[in-house]
Amino acid sequence: MPRRTEEQKEQRRIYEQTPQGKFLNIISNWKRPPKNGYGLICENREEIEGIYGLYISSERCEECNCLYTEDNKKCMDHCHESGKFRYILCHSCNTKRKKNNTSGIPNISKQQNGWEYKIQIKSKKHSKFSTDLEWLKEYKVEFEKNNLYIH
Ligand SMILES: [Zn+2]
Repeated sequence: MPRRTEEQKEQRRIYEQTPQGKFLNIISNWKRPPKNGYGLICENREEIEGIYGLYISSERCEECNCLYTEDNKKCMDHCHESGKFRYILCHSCNTKRKKNNTSGIPNISKQQNGWEYKIQIKSKKHSKFSTDLEWLKEYKVEFEKNNLYIH
């Protein structure tokens, strides 16, 4: 029923304008893993709320000190290898950083007969070996989705 869908879209649009809706919308983007690593990883709700607070109140890029504009928006910069938050930057500085990131796939390393995925979460170690790199990459994504992100 198209009318209902329109109604739902409108409700969603209104919800996204509320402080809670904005917060959830932005952090879900932050947590989504990029191709070459991790999305933002936080230990708990307080940590992500703290970063969000910094993001909301930031008026200038921490790197080049410019004011944010429509064409050069503010971005949350994090380490793709550890998932840790770094800075609030303008889009231009954030893009420059991404280009400098030449790392391969975090936590997967070549072994004699195949590949090994190793990760440590709060002092608990986990590892998985496979001869199939593609399979292991999928395993890694699934494992991290279930163990690293706040749902
Ligand atoms: Zn900048």
